[in-house]
Formats: sequence, structure tokens, C-alpha cells
Amino acid sequence: MERVRKEMEQQRLWVVAESQGEELKESTYELLTEVARLAAQRGNKVMVLLDTAGDIALEKMAEELGVYGAEAILPLASAGQNSSRQVGEAIAALAKELHPDAVFIAETIWGHEVASWTAAGLGTALLADCVELGLGVNQELTMSRHVYGDTVAIKFAAAGEQTLVVTVQSGLFNVKKSFPGQKARLLERHPARAGVCESVKVLEFIKADPKTVDIIDAERLVVGGKGMGTAENYALIRETAEVLSAAVGGTRVARDNGWVSLVRQIGQTGKTVAPELLISCGVSGAIQHTMGLKETKCLVAINTDKHAPIHKLADLSIVEDAPKVLAEFIAKMKTTAERRQSV
Ligand SMILES: Cc1cc2nc3c(=O)[nH]c(=O)nc-3n(C[C@H](O)[C@H](O)[C@H](O)COP(=O)(O)OP(=O)(O)OC[C@H]3O[C@@H](n4cnc5c(N)ncnc54)[C@H](O)[C@@H]3O)c2cc1C
Repeated sequence: MERVRKEMEQQRLWVVAESQGEELKESTYELLTEVARLAAQRGNKVMVLLDTAGDIALEKMAEELGVYGAEAILPLASAGQNSSRQVGEAIAALAKELHPDAVFIAETIWGHEVASWTAAGLGTALLADCVELGLGVNQELTMSRHVYGDTVAIKFAAAGEQTLVVTVQSGLFNVKKSFPGQKARLLERHPARAGVCESVKVLEFIKADPKTVDIIDAERLVVGGKGMGTAENYALIRETAEVLSAAVGGTRVARDNGWVSLVRQIGQTGKTVAPELLISCGVSGAIQHTMGLKETKCLVAINTDKHAPIHKLADLSIVEDAPKVLAEFIAKMKTTAERRQSV
């Protein structure tokens, strides 16, 4: 145990992984890539803390996370459902003992809860919703976050010995395998298993409404770009999304035109999505946009220009006027639905 403790003391930066069944969420890889970048600059090592309540294969994870910069993986044993409190409390207990410089957690619902319990356990403030991580002149950690409706950015710099608890927005950093060949060391399962949380019970998981769901988690997306032409035409994107129970996304031009909000922008300065189906309408396929849709399983592109780069990525290309195609599609779907109802 003493050896494990000594090993863990070397990991100055911690990243809390979030799982989804047998996989880790994309936000974990993104955060790990960014924290590993900082760690390399500071001469630190990164430890990933992983709740093992899911169906995660630990050996496989050690191989996978190493190339993204994890030096070690510490499995945490939670009781599964509603694990955020147990995980947060376990991390706080561990951090009290080992004093890492910072614990980084992706800003998701689960991540925010874990971070709150961790910060509460450590008796420290939570630096939530950060959008930029960096280093100050003395290699101290710095974090920025936006406030007042994204009109002001505040930069924090670590001072003193206190472990920082930081949540970081997803969709901002590129996932990169910067450490080819590196395999993370699998540490012994953390024995300080926190008790089952009795104050909160999960009664039911309710499927998110695609209209309001975070586009990162959307299974289906209808995405509009400048080629949609007008705000009125853009309403067809929303209508198509409604018919398909899909979420709406957009390019930066669509956002600049006020057709979608920033949270629905896909790409370098927007979000990275991984839907089963994405219908891209009037989008040229600029690299800054397409880098956010690399994980899309099936891409349908509707663009009048047959040479538009988006067609090269598409599984199905439609060289047509997008508003016209969508209007016809919506009408067809509505007629089919009416016919089904009358049978
Ligand atoms: C640092 C940086 C970061 C950036 N980050 C992002 C980002 O996160 N996300 C992002 O999206 N962009 C980003 N951009 C901008 C990006 O480079 C492109 O300018 C943008 O993606 C283009 O948007 P678009 O496809 O809607 O428009 P355009 O490139 O103008 O394409 C419009 C397309 O619509 C087609 N079209 C026209 N009429 C029709 C019609 N009636 N029916 C069908 N198709 C039609 C045209 O053939 C054309 O291909 C970034 C740029 C920079 C420099």
C-alpha cells in the first residue's frame, strides 16, 4: 500500500473519467488530452480516476488512455447507480492524503456533481465551467471561464498549496494521441470505498428531449449552414429535426447569422458530436466545421455544389437545393404519419 501511495504522490494532475456503458465519454479523452499537454509542460504526471461500476475493461483502458497522456489509472469502486457522491467523496479523501495540484473533471451533469462533492469534501471552492487551461509565469496552473453571458472572461491562477477542483467545458479541445506507445499503469483499486449514498435515490432515467439535449449526446442531428439562405429557410432545419426526433446544429456562419446559438455550433470553436445520423444542409465542409463531426456514423450531405468538400465525407450525397429537399421530406413524412394514423 505504501508503494502505491508513493506512486500516486507523483501524479500531480488528476483527471476524473466518465463512463457510458463499456466506453468512456468523448469529454474524458478531450480533457485528458488537454491536461496531459499541461502536465508535459510542467514535468508532471497525469492520473486518471475511473469509477469501475460500469462495464469498463480496465486492462483495455490502461492501453487506451496511455496514448492520450495518462501515466496511471486508479480504479475507484462505487456502488454504481448514483455514483457521483461516492466518487466525489472518495476523490476528496484521497486528495486530502496525496495533495495533487488539481483535480480536473469534464463539465457534464455527472461531472459537475462529482466536482461539487469533491470540493465540498476538500473544503475548497469549485472552479466550474472553465474554457481554457494554461500555465502562468511560474508554471502555476491557470484557468479561464466566461461570465455575464460570455461577455467577460476571468482568468484564475493557482496560489498556495490547496488542491484545485476544476470542471472544464467539453467540445473545446481537440482529442489527440500525443503519447504513442504509452500504456498507463493500472494501480490497485482504491480501497477507501465510500458508503452508499442514501440521501438521494435514482428513481428513473428519462430520455432527454432531442430539442433541448446537449448536441454532444444527440443520436440524430440536422445541421444547417449558410446555404440555407434565410432565417425562414432555417426553420426547415428545426422542422426536419422535429419530424426525426433529432437535435439541431449549425455552422459558425449559421451562428453568426443568429440562426442557432453557440451551444449548437459544431466544429473547432463549437462542439464535437458523435450522432448515428447527421443530415448536413447547405454546409460547405470547411475543416474547422468537419473536425467536430468526425465521429458521425452516417452523414447525409445536401449541397448544390457537387464539388463542396462535405460531399467527400458523406455516406449519401444529394446535389440539390437544401430548403427544397427538406420541405419535400417534411411533407412526405407528415403524409406518411397521417396515413399510418388513419389505418
Ligand atoms: C479559427 C477558426 C475557427 C472556426 N471554427 C468554426 C467552427 O467551430 N464551426 C464552423 O462551422 N466553422 C468554423 N469556422 C468557420 C469555417 O472556416 C467556415 O467558414 C464555416 O464552417 C462555413 O460555414 P458554412 O458551411 O455554413 O458556409 P459556407 O462555407 O459559405 O458554405 C455554404 C455552402 O452552402 C452551399 N449552398 C448554397 N446554396 C445552397 C442551397 N440552396 N442548397 C444547398 N446548398 C447550398 C454552398 O455550395 C456552400 O458549399 C472557423 C474558422 C476559423 C478561422
